Amino acid sequence: MSDPILKVRDLKRDYVISGGMFGKTKLLHAVKGVSFDVARGSTLAVVGESGCGKSTLARMLTMIDPPTSGTIEIDGETIDITSHGITREMRQAVQIVFQNPYGSLNPRQKIGAVLEEPLLLNTSMSAAERRDAALAMLEKVGLPPAHYGRYPHMFSGGQRQRVAIARAIMLRPKLLVLDEPVSALDLSVQAQILNLLRDLQDEFDLTYVFISHDLSVVRYIADEVMVMYFGEAVEHGTRDQVFSDPQHDYTKTLFAATPRADVESIKKRLAAKSAA
Ligand code: ADP
Ligand code: MG
Repeated sequence: MSDPILKVRDLKRDYVISGGMFGKTKLLHAVKGVSFDVARGSTLAVVGESGCGKSTLARMLTMIDPPTSGTIEIDGETIDITSHGITREMRQAVQIVFQNPYGSLNPRQKIGAVLEEPLLLNTSMSAAERRDAALAMLEKVGLPPAHYGRYPHMFSGGQRQRVAIARAIMLRPKLLVLDEPVSALDLSVQAQILNLLRDLQDEFDLTYVFISHDLSVVRYIADEVMVMYFGEAVEHGTRDQVFSDPQHDYTKTLFAATPRADVESIKKRLAAKSAA
């Protein structure tokens, strides 16, 4: 890959879980040695069913959770969460957006304060500069300036996700990890948020790791697709490669299970109707 901004090598994460009887513990291998690169400005979609390790991967990439082993390199710098070697710049370089924006927004914090907080903590900007930056970002994510003084509960799910995205890019990260960012939203709202993400990617030169279990979303947003299955990356290729010619048995099953055929048959029925 010509210009990878993210390089992941043999990344593993085990969880110690109690086995029940006699307080015995055992290891759960949530991520079992995953390697991939992501090119600057591109979108890698990570797909797979619930429990396959997607969120565990997301938490390692965003330095929330340490890997059990393996390496993560962001823009040429190796991340070592265990050695206290993570600089503020590195933390700022990677941000995350979760599925449930309400859970990640403080209900007592007005939207303006939500957006200004990262600036307050990490920059020497004045209050007036922070306010201007927050208002400018509201506009970038398609929210009117009047929302600056409102609380999260006054927003729809889609609007809250716009706020969460805005907050995540206030410090101009290099990499944005999106963990099922549209899964809780209505279909029409999903499309709006996906379009917004595309626009922001261009404008802010963002690289996305986009986690989803929904193949229609992945097809829309991804440049490359990595398929996870029980903690392993079983397939990785360009979107068109993976969609048109899935290699791994699991990928074939996954794709066969999606209602692609249904969409085609509905289209045909509609066409037949309008012809009649
Ligand atoms: P996904 O996001 O693909 O649904 P997760 O990464 O959340 O998958 O989970 C992968 C596996 O790790 C699952 O078996 C899950 O139960 C387990 N797991 C996730 N987080 C923890 C944790 N903090 N402690 C123990 N097991 C966990
Ligand atoms: Mg998850």
